[in-house]
Amino acid sequence: MEENALRWSSGETKSKLPGLHWIDPHVHILPPGRMRGLVRWVKKFTPGFPVDEDITAGEIIAGVRESQIPLFFNLVFPLWEEETEDLNLFNRDLCAGIPEAVPFGSLHIETPDKASETRRCIEEYGFLGMKLHPYAQRFPAFGEEMNPLFEVLDKLEKPLLVHTGFDVFYGTYMDFGDMEQVIRNYPGMQVVAVHALFPRFRLAHRLLQEYPNFWLDMTNSISCMRIFLDIQVRRREFPADTASLEMDLLGENFEYFYRLFEDFPGRIMYGTDYPVGFGYHPALLDDLLSFKFPDAAQRMLLAGTAEKLLERCSYPIRRSD
Ligand SMILES: [Zn+2]
Repeated sequence: MEENALRWSSGETKSKLPGLHWIDPHVHILPPGRMRGLVRWVKKFTPGFPVDEDITAGEIIAGVRESQIPLFFNLVFPLWEEETEDLNLFNRDLCAGIPEAVPFGSLHIETPDKASETRRCIEEYGFLGMKLHPYAQRFPAFGEEMNPLFEVLDKLEKPLLVHTGFDVFYGTYMDFGDMEQVIRNYPGMQVVAVHALFPRFRLAHRLLQEYPNFWLDMTNSISCMRIFLDIQVRRREFPADTASLEMDLLGENFEYFYRLFEDFPGRIMYGTDYPVGFGYHPALLDDLLSFKFPDAAQRMLLAGTAEKLLERCSYPIRRSD
């Protein structure tokens, strides 16, 4: 109980990070109706999830500031086509008033003129890039219908964030062949695999090796690995207790989880899904620090890689510190 309460309190992160800040590439501030839907959905599989369905943008921002996050990516995605334009406008207006926010736009597979909407988001609204959540949006992210989106992002050399991984949880899958083809065909577009293909870290490692325009965001994956390791320890201590747990899916990917940080810390970021992730910033920072990655890798994960991406995509940072 106490541990749960602790994971859900905002607060100091800087004291754990001397001389360092944390850029969060994965935050969701949505319009009230969508926020309510998202929190309700999380509560369905996490009873007791301590976030109010009516959490406001102001409360989310207050939490981000309390945890001393100087910059974050705000991600939206339409569940149906009719919502697309309004949602992108919402993110434009919201982020205009929040100096820490870096807005991303989104599209639906049925958006009639994907190129125009993408250009509007980047050139007119000043968004950094676009985000797709194929599992929640219920369409393939890398099908050829989305080519107009890729063409614009490729030309403008902007990022595409795509939800990847946690297939078992969502009860669906992604065509990684299509994904790789898109990464290869649009070398100017920076493809960020959100959740790092969890748990396909071997594939993630190979793609990082082959494609300089491929990046990872470790949102939720770090905490899942921390939980996985805890269970491994408990399994040794109380084998009967946890024998039924199906934690073997990591298999050969386990070794590659560590190799990612050894070989490519400069293309890995660490986000949180705040306020609907595995906890608030201080607890999720503890999850990362528990792995004791080398200092230089931690710095890249927490801020260096995001700064590199912003610079690579010529995004003007408005924050003052
Ligand atoms: Zn998310």
